[in-house]
Amino acid sequence: MFVFKTVKELQYFLATVTPSGIGFVPTMGALHQGHISLIEKSQQQNELTVCSIFVNPTQFNKQEDLINYPRNVSADIELLQCLDCDNEEKRVVLFLPSENEIYPKKIEKSYDFGNLSLVMEAQHRPGHFNGVAMVIERFFSIINPTNAYFGEKDFQQLAVVRNLVKQLRLPVQIIGCPIVREANGLAMSSRNERLTPEQKEQAANIYKFLLDAKQQAKTLTVGEVKNNFISAIKNIPVLQLEYLEIADGNTLLSINDWSEINYCVAFVAVFVGNVRLIDNVTLYKD
Ligand code: AMP
Repeated sequence: MFVFKTVKELQYFLATVTPSGIGFVPTMGALHQGHISLIEKSQQQNELTVCSIFVNPTQFNKQEDLINYPRNVSADIELLQCLDCDNEEKRVVLFLPSENEIYPKKIEKSYDFGNLSLVMEAQHRPGHFNGVAMVIERFFSIINPTNAYFGEKDFQQLAVVRNLVKQLRLPVQIIGCPIVREANGLAMSSRNERLTPEQKEQAANIYKFLLDAKQQAKTLTVGEVKNNFISAIKNIPVLQLEYLEIADGNTLLSINDWSEINYCVAFVAVFVGNVRLIDNVTLYKD
């Protein structure tokens, strides 16, 4: 597998091979099957896939979270090498830039994503999506991908990226991919590496309670479903709910009554010890 550490090397390579389509999968590393599913989707749809690993400092609102973010590039490379990376019909290359390559000048950009900049992750992680938008805009300008792949695990991020592409009229198609879960239902995440086996078992309740909410949405009110979820989480001492929102899957505006919308998603952020996890489940979509 080719590994490029500079913008110049990567761009030279892209100009030389001139693939019919470039798929791009941005990641922060500590790769797992969730990331792999995005890369495989890209391999099905593009002759060349660029996977990036870059722990983007501008999207961390807490220095401590940036420092503690898991990093293991050699294990990542090993995992990627299982993907038939050098097959010319579905080649995968890795872009592993330094901070200086991505941010050669100290620029601060400011984006407005309307309601998406105000709710849930935006509210609890100030500046987070500004940092995400900055790095994605920069990556898109370096790689000029045909398609870019993002997980529905970070549902709000996917909405922000779609909005960014629309605002800037970028010629890239954004493709959302379903959440990959552990056998016990826990959404795969690089942050799960920081959980003990016991915490992982307890964390699986997040998905279980979201599925209960989906079931209850058929008969109970929005308020009742929310209250039941909050009580269920409270019964598991190691889980601390940061937020639960039941919202429109298109606008992410929270709702009070099921009749308001026909695409409804439940979103949560939960602390397991000091590890913050997010998850979501579609309650219904007509
Ligand atoms: P990250 O490395 O956490 O920034 O994630 C990189 C990409 O992988 C993002 O588009 C995530 O939404 C996606 N991703 C992370 N975990 C999962 C998962 N469990 N299932 C599907 N996609 C995921």
